[in-house]
Amino acid sequence: MLVDGRVAVDYGDTVPYRVLCRGVEQRLQNDALLSELRHRPHRSFEFRVPNGVAPSATGAGLPPVCREASGVGRLWWVDDERAFFAELFSWIHEGMDRWNLWAFARRAADVPDVRDVPAFGSLQPGESDWCYLCGEPPEAGRPCPSTPGESAWDA
Ligand SMILES: [Zn+2]
Repeated sequence: MLVDGRVAVDYGDTVPYRVLCRGVEQRLQNDALLSELRHRPHRSFEFRVPNGVAPSATGAGLPPVCREASGVGRLWWVDDERAFFAELFSWIHEGMDRWNLWAFARRAADVPDVRDVPAFGSLQPGESDWCYLCGEPPEAGRPCPSTPGESAWDA
C-alpha cells in the first residue's frame, strides 16, 4: 500500500509496479462486491491490451459503471440482474497487460458471453481456460455453477 492509500503490486526491480486500486475504500468496495458475486453463476474470459492502456469498454450492453468499486486495475459494471468485472491480472509479458473478465448473472442461463456484448468488442476477449474465482478450469461454453454463499442480490 502506498502512503496515499493507493494499492499497488510490485514484481521486483525489473518490472515497474502498478497501482491497482485508488484507495482503501475502493479496495474494500471491490472486495465486498466480489465476495457477494463470486457465488453467482459466471463465465470467465480474458483480454490483452498494451502495457498501461486503460481498457475501452463503452457502448451498448453494459450495466452502469460501479464507481465505488472501480479503480485503475479493477473495473465493475453492475445492475440488479448482471455484473461484469475486469481485473488487471498481469503486466510482465511481451509488453501486454492481461486482464481477466467475468460475467455474472442471477441464473446460469442468463450469464452472457462477453463476446456478444458490443461494449467489449474492441477488446476481443476470449474464453479463459482457467477460472481464478473457482480455482479450476471452466467447462468450455458453460458458466461456472453458483455456489452457496451470501449475496446482496438475495435481499
Ligand atoms: Zn468460476
